[in-house]
Amino acid sequence: MSSKKQVKAGNVLIGGGAPVSVQSMLNTPAGDIDACVKQALALESAGCEIIRTTVPDLSAVRTVAALKEAVSVPIVADIHFDYRMALEAAEAGADKIRLNPGNIGADDRVKAVADKCRQKEIPIRIGVNSGSVEKSILAKYGAPTAQALVESAMYHVGLLQKFDFDDIVISLKSSSVQTAVKAYRLMAQTADYPLHVGITEAGTERMGLLKSSAGIGSLLMDGIGDTVRVSLTADPVKEVYAAYDILKATDVRRRGVNLVSCPTCGRTKIDLIGLAARVEDALKNCQKQITVAVMGCAVNGPGEAANADIGVAGGNGYGLLFSKGKILRKIKEEELFTELMKEIEKL
Ligand code: SF4
Repeated sequence: MSSKKQVKAGNVLIGGGAPVSVQSMLNTPAGDIDACVKQALALESAGCEIIRTTVPDLSAVRTVAALKEAVSVPIVADIHFDYRMALEAAEAGADKIRLNPGNIGADDRVKAVADKCRQKEIPIRIGVNSGSVEKSILAKYGAPTAQALVESAMYHVGLLQKFDFDDIVISLKSSSVQTAVKAYRLMAQTADYPLHVGITEAGTERMGLLKSSAGIGSLLMDGIGDTVRVSLTADPVKEVYAAYDILKATDVRRRGVNLVSCPTCGRTKIDLIGLAARVEDALKNCQKQITVAVMGCAVNGPGEAANADIGVAGGNGYGLLFSKGKILRKIKEEELFTELMKEIEKL
């Protein structure tokens, strides 16, 4: 149910069957060009495909221009209430604007932003969240429910459509995983705009990742979602890794190695937990689209991981190297890691 409609932010297509893209947001001070550029470069090298930065004032507009010079990843300007910042950011080269037209005042301001974005051929993301739902809609539903979020988003969509602007992406964020998932499902049935999916204020690394996996994962499994942002109270680079891991876990988009490892049990006679952690760490930047298995025993390992391109299964003081379920050779436990890595090199 990925949207049929497609928009373009810089060199990244969103919706219309394009690969689900990964984005994050800078958390460096908006006016600190050096810090923002440094973080954007780190995000770019981690594989981030869209970078958002807040634009509260003119110093941040200069940051947008500097970011455009420094990275080739599209830059999204996040605007809150000042429509002039949207106009300035678009002039400075922003590839997309994130703004809720209902928050910027009279119609002439909405028209000015819509006209500028049309002229620059950049899309606008409408980002609704539980805290931003209009009072009248809140009064109707009594709480920021899924219906309330969708109605709020459609109100903002209507304001842009009034000025014939339709290059829209929508996000409906709630810190409640249930509400967010329901809202995105309802939105996917309500209109055909690309959806930016995420769970807002998801929390610190562990719970944030779990909530995001449950929420974003459920939506992706339904075929909903065109671009993903995992929100973590952590370094944004970790958001990028997390987003790719969710895409990988849901089989929506593969990047790098798929590591299969067993939970260990009473049959395990080698340090499998240590070995699996070592292998995962060694392969974290490996771009080969392969499945690697690290299994605890030779009785079940090769069979359970029969799809693995290469794998090891532990024995008593030794391990078996296998490929596609077939045993290749027996290796001493202390040489398992090195031999496995050598085989991966060859693939
Ligand atoms: Fe236990 Fe072997 Fe299964 Fe691992 S692969 S959980 S060691 S039976």
